[in-house]
Amino acid sequence: MERQYILQRLPDVLLPWYRLNRRELPWRADREPYHVWLSEIMLQQTRVEAVKGYYARFLSALPTVEALACCDDDMLHKLWEGLGYYSRVRNLKKAARVIMDQHGGVFPGEYDAIRALPGIGDYTAGAICSICSDRPTPAVDGNVLRVISRILDDPTPIDLPTTKKQVAAELAEVYPEAAGDFTQALMELGATVCGPNKRPDCGNCPCNAFCKGFQRGTAEVLPVKSPKKTRREEDLTVFILSCDGKVLLHRRPKKGLLAGLWEFPNVPGHLNEQEALAAVENMGLRPRELLRMVERSHIFTHIRWNMRGFYIEVASAEGKPDWFTREQVELQAALPTAFRQFWEEKQDV
Ligand code: SF4
Repeated sequence: MERQYILQRLPDVLLPWYRLNRRELPWRADREPYHVWLSEIMLQQTRVEAVKGYYARFLSALPTVEALACCDDDMLHKLWEGLGYYSRVRNLKKAARVIMDQHGGVFPGEYDAIRALPGIGDYTAGAICSICSDRPTPAVDGNVLRVISRILDDPTPIDLPTTKKQVAAELAEVYPEAAGDFTQALMELGATVCGPNKRPDCGNCPCNAFCKGFQRGTAEVLPVKSPKKTRREEDLTVFILSCDGKVLLHRRPKKGLLAGLWEFPNVPGHLNEQEALAAVENMGLRPRELLRMVERSHIFTHIRWNMRGFYIEVASAEGKPDWFTREQVELQAALPTAFRQFWEEKQDV
């Protein structure tokens, strides 16, 4: 009961605080569901500052759900290049198609219909439904869980599915009429005053009069998370092959990690120089000069790639279709960050 008593106090302090202190962000300019949806998907795993440019470019190229539904996949990947987690943008397009086919091109307003769209989970559905339609549907992400665990001084691990469910149910009970502002106020508090990776700024927090974590001095050790699982390590040899001012790219399989994006040719394991040159010959190409070798890594959520890259000039581009000029790599081919780092070090193309 004490939990509900504390949570009930949130709307009265958070709404005025939010209206005075909120950051002006491009996706807060209106409550158009397409805009809110796009921003929420982009903001998953990505910082606000990094998202701003992507958001503007995406909407300029694809201003409507209809434009997104009809968009060419290469253009879509290019608009997302560098943001990572490409399944997000593929699901955006799938959902846009569902909206065109099943909802007459109009973004649905009901929580269940929004939640049923590809790529939309409880959090995003709650955010869109509350922000765009002022419904009492909480959007509980890591920021909100951190705030609530501190306010309630609750040491239950926040990454347990049951914790998220409980917090969502409890918040739904205290939602005010201005549901959209309340959702955004909670997010804003969790992104700024009570933010991640820093000491909570309790002296400037509108909740400090009733925050148990602040009063008991436990805020800085909250939230609690379950012990981390270890990441799988994979070794990879990457070939940055050049010929006549072009580089060879390869399309990744349609399913799995980085599905459908472009990559430099690569093989599992770490090859030495002789093995790398032999591998290039096995691709049907004639190595002319091994220019250099570099070691790089890239971390995904569950995997770490330890990559050894060989820059090799080959004698002829014949026999392989996918040679790209510098301009084509920059403008057309979506090259994920794991491979782009080799491209950015390449000066001679
Ligand atoms: S008082 Fe401190 S710990 Fe509590 S919600 Fe505010 S910033 Fe977070």
